[in-house]
Amino acid sequence: MLPYLTEEWGNPSSPYRLGKRLVEPIEAARESIAALVGADSSEIVFTSCGTESINTAITSCLYTQPSKRHVVTTAVEHSATMKSCAALERRGYEVTYLPVNRAGALDLRAVERVLRPDTAVVSVMWANNETGVLFPIGEIAALCRDRGILIHTDAVQTPGKVVINVGELGVDLLSLSAHKLHGPKGIGSLYVRKGTPFWPLIIGGHQEEGNRGGTENVPYIAAFGRAAELARAIGPQDRQALAARRDSFEAEVLARIPGSSRNGAKEPRLPNTSSLSFAGVDAEALLLLLDQLGICASSGSACTTGSMAPSHVLTAMGLNPTEARGTIRFSLDYETTGEDVAYLMSHLPRLVGELRAAASPRAIARMAGTRSELAVQPA
Ligand SMILES: *Cc1c(COP(=O)(O)O)cnc(C)c1O
Repeated sequence: MLPYLTEEWGNPSSPYRLGKRLVEPIEAARESIAALVGADSSEIVFTSCGTESINTAITSCLYTQPSKRHVVTTAVEHSATMKSCAALERRGYEVTYLPVNRAGALDLRAVERVLRPDTAVVSVMWANNETGVLFPIGEIAALCRDRGILIHTDAVQTPGKVVINVGELGVDLLSLSAHKLHGPKGIGSLYVRKGTPFWPLIIGGHQEEGNRGGTENVPYIAAFGRAAELARAIGPQDRQALAARRDSFEAEVLARIPGSSRNGAKEPRLPNTSSLSFAGVDAEALLLLLDQLGICASSGSACTTGSMAPSHVLTAMGLNPTEARGTIRFSLDYETTGEDVAYLMSHLPRLVGELRAAASPRAIARMAGTRSELAVQPA
């Protein structure tokens, strides 16, 4: 990023060299992202984030097929999709939210049953950001293709963790976000299969072939390209090692902490994500205590943390609000060491035990869904 924040600060749309020479790094980054997903670089559009990519994909399918007013998605999508769909409903579109089972899995026959001649787009995430559960996007795409329905997947969680090949997958549109693959926050991409009808969400200048107006964020685009290269270099052995570390962490938690359980199917799942419930524990209190120790974990998705509502993903999987409020998501990474996990495990069983012992009637009332201030304060 640095050269593009210091010396190379030109505008790529300018007629002079200071700007024009920035076209090359933008196109190099586009090639890297295309290579990461198995696409042609002409099929990659840069956006400001994953959320913009998702909004663009869904609205494009609706704008280009005005007679089709039905959208299919799932009950466990990221808020970028959930809230876009809720907004569409308020504007008179019909949205079907496919349910999941206790393991977080979709029933393919149920997908097939809800597809209609007026379905404009099926938008289904590939990997769930809270549980890591993977949906069978290839099979869903095949069902859509047979019926002439466009398919978009929110693949934001997958780079580096799953091999992405848009050709094999058979999707028409695919969204990514750089900060989920160690890139900067505030840059994303949308794959649009050649020949897919497309209508931009952000209309303005001729940038991105008119597919997304607005002067390019060159430093972020360059960094996204480099992050994509690094993600593409992650191989099957790295993924296996990551999954093994996650699995042994999970096994240790389940063995050492009574009343703990894993959410979501063991497979197919991302190699790094672990959603764990601790009966009788308020996850928000546990997160505060972990944070004091320098351990970063999350309840629900970062976008909704702070809201008191239990995770819509966990409740869609059939957890009751109390169980959902006792759930933490741990995300490992290729850089997470065995020592990191050992450090976490040197504290986690004790903290869970202390929170259970300290659970006051107020805390229990809160966990049961009654509003009251946090009962357990960190030291
Ligand atoms: C983070 C995330 C998004 C949103 O991406 P932003 O770049 O933060 O807008 C969308 N979907 C999933 C699954 C995510 O994890």
